[in-house]
Amino acid sequence: MSHQESGLVHTEIYNQPVADASLIACLHCDLPQRLSEIALGASARCPRCNKELWRRREDSLNRTLALTLAAPVLYVIANSVPILGLTIVGRDASTTVIGGAQHLWNNGQQLVGVLVLFSAVVAPALQIGLMLAIVLGAMRERAPRWVGAVLRHHPITRIWSMIEVMMVGVLVALVKIVDYATVIPGIALFVLWVLVFILARMQAGFDSREVWEKIQWADEAQRDAAGDSLAEGTS
Ligand SMILES: [Zn+2]
Repeated sequence: MSHQESGLVHTEIYNQPVADASLIACLHCDLPQRLSEIALGASARCPRCNKELWRRREDSLNRTLALTLAAPVLYVIANSVPILGLTIVGRDASTTVIGGAQHLWNNGQQLVGVLVLFSAVVAPALQIGLMLAIVLGAMRERAPRWVGAVLRHHPITRIWSMIEVMMVGVLVALVKIVDYATVIPGIALFVLWVLVFILARMQAGFDSREVWEKIQWADEAQRDAAGDSLAEGTS
């Protein structure tokens, strides 16, 4: 055995990636298991806790892209037109979502104002923007590694995006105030409800595993390079 050959054997034994791409851990009970190929629309369940491990969604990237392109349009409309109008003893007033947060800030409710601004304006914008970046990145021939970094942090924006909570709060306030003032629901109120459903559908139809599989990781690039040099060595 030549020196070069023994070196090759060395890297084959000691520098092997141990990961098996078909191995996944259950998100609910951490049981590692091997995921077999499943048909479109079908799902796999964990044998220990019976929770869904993965559902293979049909045409996930294109469908998510369509919703992710519709969402910014609704988002811009929802934040530029009034959400509510009030008429009290002949005086009219109306406000947008951002205006509402500003009112809270000016009236000594700074913390609530910041929370409303963050959870109803900033987080949804991040949720939509990052999802658009992930889908566009994943649609490339080989998804770049930054897609993985964005995908890893995307759930945080989803957790903080709480338009529906704000909407329920607005409805409760409306019911309480309706005896004292004439309330005019703004266009934003309806647009935001549509946006809530669009965002829910966007998340439900998105298949993160499909994106993970498309990302070219460093060790994969190294393996490709090692494979090339091995082929050169043997030829
Ligand atoms: Zn489980």
